[in-house]
Amino acid sequence: MIDETHDPARRSWVESANRPGCDFPIQNLPLGVFTPPGSATARIGVAIGEAILDVSDWLPGDQLNAYMALSSADRADFRRHCVRRLEAGAKPCALYSQTECRLHRPVTIGDYTDFYASIDHATNVGKLFRPENPLLPNYKHVPIAYHGRASSIVVSGTPVKRPQGQLGEGRFGPTQELDYEVEVGFFVGPGNALGEPIAIAKARSHIAGVCLVNDWSARDIQRWEYQPLGPFLAKNFATSISPWVVTAEALAPFWTEPPPHDVPILPYLREPVPGALDLTVEVWFRTAAMTEPIRLSHAAFKDMYWTAGQMIAHHTVNGCPLQPGDLIASGTVSGPQPDNRGCLLELTAKGAEPLRLPTGETRTFLHDGDEVILTGYCERPGWVRIGLGHCRGTIRPQ
Ligand code: MN
Repeated sequence: MIDETHDPARRSWVESANRPGCDFPIQNLPLGVFTPPGSATARIGVAIGEAILDVSDWLPGDQLNAYMALSSADRADFRRHCVRRLEAGAKPCALYSQTECRLHRPVTIGDYTDFYASIDHATNVGKLFRPENPLLPNYKHVPIAYHGRASSIVVSGTPVKRPQGQLGEGRFGPTQELDYEVEVGFFVGPGNALGEPIAIAKARSHIAGVCLVNDWSARDIQRWEYQPLGPFLAKNFATSISPWVVTAEALAPFWTEPPPHDVPILPYLREPVPGALDLTVEVWFRTAAMTEPIRLSHAAFKDMYWTAGQMIAHHTVNGCPLQPGDLIASGTVSGPQPDNRGCLLELTAKGAEPLRLPTGETRTFLHDGDEVILTGYCERPGWVRIGLGHCRGTIRPQ
């Protein structure tokens, strides 16, 4: 619901929050978990500009699960409380500098599910393996997903060790085809009881917030292992998430109509409200020899074939319970153009067309020392831009 907290005229007494292009203006107020310098105690904070407001007096503990279990009315109350403390004219209080604090994985993630909701990604990848029949016949009818592994989800900045595994018959060693995937993650709010599906009309109210997700993938391991049950060790060695959870309340002005479907879908998937999120994601990349990262791709999240609400309704239609803090990732966010491709598998056509970098280096897949940086932001005329921050990861050798 849009309310006075989204007022684009509102400013903060924190000057860095008022700068154009800032990810964390007072209209955003994402939550995270941090340890201040000199302290051993992690606590919950709200990002404002380049600073952090300690909110442990309102939200005790060192994970956001209890916050995510709140009703959307209670989450909106908390947002108004933060606005009152941080808006221009309020009495300034002590803040921490983000660069001086350690940021932690903000949520105890019980379960993690990864969807495959971009029809452009599904088509591009399908073309590489089945040029005559890129999109499988079920794609437009059933949201495709697999159950991921929560234990290897790490916060941005955590190094990613190149995994080893089976690369084919009798072949074992470090993956030679390490890839990233840019995705958007949804944290589940209140959730549902075993046996009780979440109706599509209520699905949106079960989203507590969003983050950026890098679903690191070992393509050679994946190719050898994925039939007939899907990804396993090619995916579950590491998944990176951004540290700041942008709340469902902050996203309220940015919901929009998804692209039309050309085949009818079942009634339980028909969403009565505009279910797409007007969010741009970008992938930036830096080798050890590069001083500055370059942008590899950008894509519009609103063009995904399945919406977050449809993912939640589908995930629970059989009675599967979702719990506060569960992570639902969208699948690789790609678009129709070459610079919309959200992973190296697509960008390099399975390694056939190497990327040429400004240093003269080339890449088909990731080398040790390479860094991948995901960013994302919601931007729309009439509203203040809100950012998702960064999700970074550097590859370490096996
Ligand atoms: Mn994925």
